Amino acid sequence: MPLLVMKFGGTSVADLSRIKNAAAKVKTEVERGYDVIVIVSAMSGKTNELVGWVESTSPLYDAREYDAVVSSGENVTAGLMALTLQEMDIPARSWQGWQVPIQTTSAHAAARFVDIPRANMDAKFAEGFKVAVVAGFQGVSPEGRITTLGRGGSDTTAVAFAAAFGAERCDIYTDVDGVYTTDPRISPKARKLDKIAFEEMLELASLGAKVLQTRSVELAMRYKVRLRVLSSFEDTDETSGTLVCDEDEIMESKVVSGVAYSRDEAKMTLIRVADRPGVASAIFGPLAEAGVNVDMIVQNISETAAGHSGATTDMTFSVPVNQVARARKAMEEARATGSISYDELVEDTDVAKVSVVGIGMRSQVGVAARMFAALAAENVNIKVIATSEIKISVLIDRKYMELAVQALHDAFELEKA
Ligand code: ASP
Ligand code: MG
Repeated sequence: MPLLVMKFGGTSVADLSRIKNAAAKVKTEVERGYDVIVIVSAMSGKTNELVGWVESTSPLYDAREYDAVVSSGENVTAGLMALTLQEMDIPARSWQGWQVPIQTTSAHAAARFVDIPRANMDAKFAEGFKVAVVAGFQGVSPEGRITTLGRGGSDTTAVAFAAAFGAERCDIYTDVDGVYTTDPRISPKARKLDKIAFEEMLELASLGAKVLQTRSVELAMRYKVRLRVLSSFEDTDETSGTLVCDEDEIMESKVVSGVAYSRDEAKMTLIRVADRPGVASAIFGPLAEAGVNVDMIVQNISETAAGHSGATTDMTFSVPVNQVARARKAMEEARATGSISYDELVEDTDVAKVSVVGIGMRSQVGVAARMFAALAAENVNIKVIATSEIKISVLIDRKYMELAVQALHDAFELEKA
């Protein structure tokens, strides 16, 4: 029997009537001849409420109990979805993570999949069940405790089931109708993409296009799970939404597929760092240990400055704005122990990152030049540049972020298919 995975996010199961609406979509696929694994999120807002309850009860909570509480939202939706399907005469039952069992690591609140054995669920399909409704976002540790996968984790549950069961496709139903060339709230010219390559989606997801949890895209890429993002609020068919797939499936791609942004960035510069072997490691080691998520890094050409015996350099890096204090503390401590030396630490907390992404960049020259020209035409000053094979990112003043996104969307003519 061909099998589909269908995942419904929080807003798609926000109340009983939406659960009914989602169940009707499942019924359509069953009538087309599919066995279906449905992955559900908690009803929207529920997980936040549960997290709040845990934090109010115990500020330094035991992560195992956090997972016990926070995973429960999905259990409710799974049971309600199974009941709704039964009311529609579809043989369905719910599955909590431990019943499958979805085996994960013991890293509570950030667990990773170890294995999803198929036997239990296959046996139920063989008995005549058409739909297995699985509580997303959760699993069970080797110690037999309930785990959760990190916020947004039910996307990853869906992809993992699609991989484990060889699903024809993994449909992610959400409150938007697909993946766009950029955020439609910023550029009204944003266009829905019919297809996007895994690698591009990965860049867009990690750059702040919040449609899919980044890990779910990584997993889909690794196991070549065809992933479709579509709206549960619209009538949909096989052609709806955006297909995230292998680049071989995309015949002709534009040089740039999308413009992504990340609003809350900060730039930190260590002025006149002693330039010697090991200095980068002495800076970024402590930052990593402090859990600081460093993104872009630029090391200036070194100079021999007055008052310094050897050559010095300036080292600039970007971090999320809410990690600036932690990064500063790590640098001050490293300076106090003598492992690094610098004159000054300069912080700029009013920056944003804007990036253009596209697999077409691999074979096309001049993309950076076009990007910089578009920004120059709008008088947007670039503070830091970083590139990879399929992405060019710049840090700019946050107040120009919207302008930059619009200008780049226009410059690469992303409104045209
Ligand atoms: N309910 C969980 C969350 O809000 C998992 C998910 O919906 O993906 O993060
Ligand atoms: Mg989500």
